[in-house]
Amino acid sequence: MSFIRTEDRDGVRVITLDNPPVNSLSFALSGELVPIVEAADKDDSVKAVVFVGANGIFSAGADVNDFSTEPTPETRTIRDVIATVERSNKIFVAAIQKNALGGGLELSLACDYRVATADTKVGLPEIKLGLLPGAGGTQRLPRLIGAQDALDMMLKGKNVKAADAKEKGILDEVVDSADALLDAALALALRQAKGDTGGGKRRISRRKVELGKGITAQAAPFIVSQAHKMVPAEDAGGFAAHKLIDAVEAAFELPFDFGIAREARLFEELARSAPSFALRHVFFAERELAKIPGLGDAKPHDIKRAGVIGAGTMGTGIAITFAQAGIPVAVIDSNADAVEKARQTVFGMFMYQVQKGRMTQEEAWKLGQSIQFTDDYNELADADVVIEAVFESMDVKKQVFAKLDAIVKPEGILASNTSTLDIDEMASVTKRPDKFVGLHFFVPANIMPLLEIVRGKDTSAQTLATAFKLGKALRKTAVLSTNAFGFIGNRMVFDYAKAAGALAEEGISPMRIDRVAKKFGFPMGPFAMGDLSGIDVAWHIAKARPDVAKGRTDVIDRLVEMKRLGQKTMAGYFKYDKSVGKGREPIADPEIEALFAEEAKKHGVAPREVSDEEILQRLVFALINRGAYLLEEGVALRPGDIDIVYIFGYGFPPHHGGPMWYADEVGVKHVYDKVVEFGWEPAPLLKKIAEANGTFAALKQGELVNA
Ligand code: NAD
Repeated sequence: MSFIRTEDRDGVRVITLDNPPVNSLSFALSGELVPIVEAADKDDSVKAVVFVGANGIFSAGADVNDFSTEPTPETRTIRDVIATVERSNKIFVAAIQKNALGGGLELSLACDYRVATADTKVGLPEIKLGLLPGAGGTQRLPRLIGAQDALDMMLKGKNVKAADAKEKGILDEVVDSADALLDAALALALRQAKGDTGGGKRRISRRKVELGKGITAQAAPFIVSQAHKMVPAEDAGGFAAHKLIDAVEAAFELPFDFGIAREARLFEELARSAPSFALRHVFFAERELAKIPGLGDAKPHDIKRAGVIGAGTMGTGIAITFAQAGIPVAVIDSNADAVEKARQTVFGMFMYQVQKGRMTQEEAWKLGQSIQFTDDYNELADADVVIEAVFESMDVKKQVFAKLDAIVKPEGILASNTSTLDIDEMASVTKRPDKFVGLHFFVPANIMPLLEIVRGKDTSAQTLATAFKLGKALRKTAVLSTNAFGFIGNRMVFDYAKAAGALAEEGISPMRIDRVAKKFGFPMGPFAMGDLSGIDVAWHIAKARPDVAKGRTDVIDRLVEMKRLGQKTMAGYFKYDKSVGKGREPIADPEIEALFAEEAKKHGVAPREVSDEEILQRLVFALINRGAYLLEEGVALRPGDIDIVYIFGYGFPPHHGGPMWYADEVGVKHVYDKVVEFGWEPAPLLKKIAEANGTFAALKQGELVNA
């Protein structure tokens, strides 16, 4: 298979990268490209070279699979291509359409000039995979735009739009359309090859590193030390960031070739690091999510109009999500005050976007118009999907669905945003259980990226396919779950909270437990999370499902009696004070520690010394054990699906890859031994994998096999 096409136009060799869909610069492509560049260099009839991408895009960068491939002596990488370009004395121009990311941008930076279409984005996103730009990016970008800007771009892995990129000096020319791109690049190449514009050959490698506007050379060590301070610690998700800063420091201190060698060494170190393996796992796990066995070639419907029932916290967020995706939505609530509040929330939300400069007044007005508040169910007759987000009560929900079933067109999909109730029971009051599905959003629905798609026993393949298509349109990361209590995420969080409560009863302060969770990388600990979501919510669930709640601390009941419902009442497991962190910062409360001690006494639990290590194990291994149950019960399809749910919905640190990946990292056997030691019932699957000395990663999709 060939990845490269060449063509000579007016003495300019046009080299087209063609590796669909995104022209990734794989080992195979590089192997083909190196001799082609060498031949162009040696050919006297070639005045200049233009790189361009097929498939409507320049290049999205390296092939992520290659990071885990052991190179052989014959392997050629994009670094070899770039070295060949660097050696040549011919003029090289990159003609960039849509994206030049990672290795794609690095190849362009090795060229003398860069021309791009106006819709182009450029960036070096390697940090998101726990890597650094390893094909010259850390050495060339600081030389081109200054170290400060370059560090900012690379440490955030952010993409820069064409106009900004031109202003920063990354791009030389921006053209309006893809049609004009190649001509502009050819004209530029010919002008420079003739040397009649005075530019000519322009290697970035020959420049000195600039620091930034108005900053003198003496400030280099300061910039580097500041950058190290700004990023998380090495063991808290900042491993790659520190190495990246080291690479930029090398750009200051070393001649270009030595800097390149240092960059390559640092890259190799990262490519073999645990955080990068974990982040690459997350990258692949995300791409697996929509692969659903049995979906066949079910054709999804288009969603052109939507409805939402309930204008509370969730309904309002869901309506905003639809509006932002360009899908008009009608919202119904039985309470006029709730509607008024929702209207204000929507208005405030869009006005905030205008203030932040993210949209114009007109755009905000248009978006606002696409959310229609009404009390007339007939407005929903034409809806392609209606999502119910009323109170968490089966009776109320059943009434709503019976009504919707009579009004919404027969092909319309009915969905519930329930957190804990049985989807099939709701579907049973309709005549279309095949068009019924759970769509479980997370709060705030317009911001949280996760969506659990819940398959009922009668949900059709087409409905499921439509739900996944809708998830994509709403820019959510959608994960499939079966209709089991708490689905994937909430079922796991119950065990996590239970483990935290048990630790507190053993005399460990909630503050310390939360601190251990945060040190691991969670944005907040289990008690702060309980306070945020509401103690009453956990209490209601415990009442409804005593089987699931078994073993949880009774402190929850006591808190509800005391009306300490969490952040919303300025007291829960912690106290809150308006003057401390705007009322969101937890403050330790000895009263609550005493309450845990009382409960412990009642249950005959003696206080004991517990290490931070054990605290972490009990929190995270509780998640792993439950995850193993969910896999075995078929609630979650793959270990990676669970990892995604926990990272995107509950803030599990991505550099640990999610709970199931973490289990593999520390050893499933070790996790199993500890689960037994803690006196928990180990999931049979956990036991099976431990006994086989296997890993979760080795489970094949849909079938549970030994590693
Ligand atoms: P909420 O109390 O904020 O809002 C519920 C709204 O439904 C209220 O405005 C109420 O007036 C309205 N309502 C009640 N009965 C109605 C009816 N028959 N017809 C029309 N409107 C009616 O609740 P919420 O937090 O938005 O939760 C809604 C649903 O979403 C629940 O099923 C809940 O379990 C689920 N959920 C909540 C969260 C969360 O964190 N809040 C997260 C995921 C899912």
